[in-house]
Parts: sequence; C-alpha cells; structure tokens
Amino acid sequence: MLGLYIHIPFCASICNYCNFNRGLFEAGLKDRYVAALEREIRAAATGEAVDSLFFGGGTPSLLEPGEIGRIVAACRDSFAVSSHPEITLETNPETSSSKRMEGFAAAGVNRVSFGVQSFRDSELLRLGRIHSADRARQAVAESRGAGFDNISLDLMMWLPGQSRDDWRESVEGLIDVAPEHASLYLLEIYPNAPLKEDMARAGWSLAPEDDAAEMYSWSLDRLDRAGYEQYEISNVARPQRESRHNLKYWTDGEWLGFGSGAHSTRGPARWKNIAGTEEYIARVSCGAPLAVERRDRTPIERLEEALFTGLRLASGIDAGRVGARYGVDVWDRYGPELQPFVDEGFLLREGARLRLSRPGMLVANEIMRVFV
Ligand code: SF4
Repeated sequence: MLGLYIHIPFCASICNYCNFNRGLFEAGLKDRYVAALEREIRAAATGEAVDSLFFGGGTPSLLEPGEIGRIVAACRDSFAVSSHPEITLETNPETSSSKRMEGFAAAGVNRVSFGVQSFRDSELLRLGRIHSADRARQAVAESRGAGFDNISLDLMMWLPGQSRDDWRESVEGLIDVAPEHASLYLLEIYPNAPLKEDMARAGWSLAPEDDAAEMYSWSLDRLDRAGYEQYEISNVARPQRESRHNLKYWTDGEWLGFGSGAHSTRGPARWKNIAGTEEYIARVSCGAPLAVERRDRTPIERLEEALFTGLRLASGIDAGRVGARYGVDVWDRYGPELQPFVDEGFLLREGARLRLSRPGMLVANEIMRVFV
C-alpha cells in the first residue's frame, strides 16, 4: 500500500550538524504552513489505500496535537487509510510532556520516534541539541504513560570526541529505556557544517575509522543479546516492530510526500516539492505546481535502486523476483562484479537471495557502487 510522508520544517533551535530542510519555529508561519499542508493533501485526494503516515522534519512534535489531528483527518478524508495504519511522529524530547503526548495519541499517532542521539549530556551539548539525557528518559516515560507501545529511538555514533566506551554508554542507556525500535546512525559532517568549526576550535576529533567499525559491530551484537533483531543496516526492532513506513523505501514501494521539500515516488515517477517554506505556502495558495524536480526513472534505474535499497535489509533481496519485475537476470548482469564480495564473505548468495553479512554491512557502500 501507499505511504504518506508529511514534512514539518520547523525546529526550536538549529543543531550544528544538521543538513535537513528546516528553519526556526515561528508561530505565524507554522499556522499558515499547516493550512497549506491540509490544502495540498486534500487537493491530492485519490481515495487509494494507505497504511502508513509519517510526520518527519524538522521537529513535527512542535505542532500542537490539534494540528496533527487536522492533518491526519485530511489524510483520512483524501485516502482510504487502513483500519490499523502506522502513524509515526518524529518527536524531540524537549517538546514532550504527558499532556502533549496524550494529545498526539488522541490525534491518531500510534508510533513515536525520538531523536535522542546520545545519552551523554556532554555529547548532546557538542551537537547543539537542547535536551538532556534525563529529559529523553522522561519523554519516553511520558509517552508510555500516554499509552504509546511503539517507540523508536535514534542514536548517533562516531561523534566528535566520542570514545568506544562513550558510545557503549549510550547504547546501554537505550537498552535501559526499552524502546521497541532503534536507529543507529553514523554522524556525517557535511562540508560547511558549523560543527566543523566547533571541532576545530575545541580540538575535538573523530575516532579512527576502525573504532567506528568496532562501535557499529559491538552495538549490533549487544542489541542482539538484548532481544532486538537487526532488519536493516542501521535499524533494529523487537519482532513485528519494524518501521512499516520506512520499509517502503527499502522494498521498491511507493509513497507520496506532502510539505516543503517532500519527495514522492509513484511507479517510474519521482518528484520533489519546492523546498522553501514561504514559497511552498505561496504556491499552494494560488494552486501553482509544487514539484520542482520531476522525472521518470528508466527500468534499469528502477532495478538498480531496488537492488541497492533492498540490500540494506538484513534479509536482502530475492534477485529472481526483482529481476523478473524489470526483465533482467540480475546475476548475469552484475554477477562478475559481485563475485569478489561473495568470495570474501561480504555478500551471501543463498539460492536466488542475496544478502549482506554483518562484515559486509561495513563495506556496503563499496558493494552498492556496483549498482550506481
Ligand atoms: S532537531 Fe533535527 S531537523 Fe532540527 S536542526 Fe536538529 S537535527 Fe536538524
């Protein structure tokens, strides 16, 4: 089924490593943006079946629960939302309170994804985050109190000045609060990130790459022992608690994106909405087209994308089925380049199925290059 992504581009403060489409929260602008979002969703009504809504950002939890409720209602009025949809709200701990979490639950949200990033206050300060580790723990408790039984936490590894022990402390902190799902991301520092200047000024450096590999492998082993199952390179979950929405990105699925800068994928078509918040609102209010980059992918591009996103999954891909969908024998076409990775044990070939081994996940970018 189709997934709906709703982008909320507002944040209470800007983190020094952030390269997302976001800006500082402003109440008046937010009000006009929410009205534009409702209008965009209702204008796209097709009545098609939908089984996931994902509020991403930015910081979607800066919206009032009633506003989230209005957007959910616009989705329900415009699409055939299934009887048990997954409705995720990306939430920052500083925006949480028991009352707000109860309001979000009443608005229809049934999955909360917290941007915790670290359980060490010194690291949070370094990243320009405005919550503390204790606030993150309280936010999870408030969500539990509001009835949420599907909670995800994001952590970032390979932070400036972070040792292996520091990282272990955060992973143990995550296990202590017992979310159903967790995402572990490697910090990527883009060229002009203010964090780069902060690092130079304060003399913080990144640990050697070997340490990053060890941090990654150690955390997956530790999370295995804590009862989580790795289902994607960066994601683990309790059984049946994988992110239904994000799985669409890795299984050649389809989704519609609403809001500034949101991406959509339907069949061969892919497009992106205009990124500027004011421009987005202006275009919606006069009914002007929102898509700024629209193109049809060729069958080979679709095949290669299905292969490299599918290989991110721990279960890998059924190369026979994916190949049949696009009329290509995957092994005939890519086998000679993939064989060295099979020989080294990085890529496992099990009948028609191809999947990365854990060591293979550490060199995933090299393997994916075969498809791009
Ligand atoms: S809260 Fe998230 S989206 Fe907002 S500035 Fe920080 S990293 Fe970027």
